[in-house]
Amino acid sequence: TAPLLQVRHLRVEFPTRRGTLLALDDVSFDIAPGEVLGVVGESGAGKSLTGSAIIGLLEPPGRIAGGEILLEGKRIDNLPADQMRRIRGRQIGAIFQDPLTSLNPLYTVGRQLVETITTHLGLTPKQARVRAIELLAATGIPAPEARVDQYPHQFSGGMRQRVVIALALAADPKLIVADEPTTALDVSIQAQIIALLKRVCREQGAAVMLVTHDMGVIAETCDRVAVMYAGRVAEIGPVQEVIHRPGHPYTSGLMGSIPAMDEDRERLVQIDGAMPRLTAIPTGCAFHPRCPRAFDRCHRQRPELMKAAATDAACWLHATDLTTVQGDVA
Ligand code: SF4
Ligand code: MG
Repeated sequence: TAPLLQVRHLRVEFPTRRGTLLALDDVSFDIAPGEVLGVVGESGAGKSLTGSAIIGLLEPPGRIAGGEILLEGKRIDNLPADQMRRIRGRQIGAIFQDPLTSLNPLYTVGRQLVETITTHLGLTPKQARVRAIELLAATGIPAPEARVDQYPHQFSGGMRQRVVIALALAADPKLIVADEPTTALDVSIQAQIIALLKRVCREQGAAVMLVTHDMGVIAETCDRVAVMYAGRVAEIGPVQEVIHRPGHPYTSGLMGSIPAMDEDRERLVQIDGAMPRLTAIPTGCAFHPRCPRAFDRCHRQRPELMKAAATDAACWLHATDLTTVQGDVA
């Protein structure tokens, strides 16, 4: 199948008084229709920025300085604001960490749903109300016929995030960008909301880009995962392969954050050190100061994504140009 979303060599800059910071550098990946792609990494790796760039909501002065973003083969990274707003409502839904940022406290949830549905799907208010109640039911809200006329503050945090999911899906979008959608919620209901998000998107035929720092969530939810480090994609591949046969030493380290499934499995070592600041990205492979397997070439030359055992990894360990590898081994 042709990709639903294509991110090609995306570059995002932040001009500052002391020079330009490169926050995303040559980020590329695809999302297929109906697919769930996880984007994982430490804070500051660029995962939220990637999501914001896709939905056209980069916070100024951040700006796209190169590359392109295509939805169903058409560029969306260079559209005027009003056209992008229409795409955001109709074709791409967004879910953020805090449900309150997506809801208007002054309107009933029904009014907000109906407004989105009538605007984007051209239904009558009466038809839209029926669809609004269906969506609330689909997201597991009890007594949706009564709840539809309530205000956001009358919902608990978890119920409110269900409303936000319903709202994101209201215009029947092809893609949902969800940025840490459960971080603000009680731990006890996080898994439930993630499972719900996945199920409802499947039912509605929407693909999901799920941004999270939680490898456990990725493992349970995603088809594929992109691991980001210092503004770049370090590794990308099918989720089980990335977890069980990672091709990038950084990913191996991240796996230490998944709770062991059985007692016998040894916990992987946590990675020492911190991700570099954007003002001080190391030369060569940005991970080399923390990498237990770094060798000479890693300091000098930046690796692009290349074929690893079962994934694509930006790591010289998978270079097929043998002379260099031999040279470094010798
Ligand atoms: Fe480690 Fe070198 Fe691979 Fe970077 S390129 S992850 S430093 S081995
Ligand atoms: Mg973030």
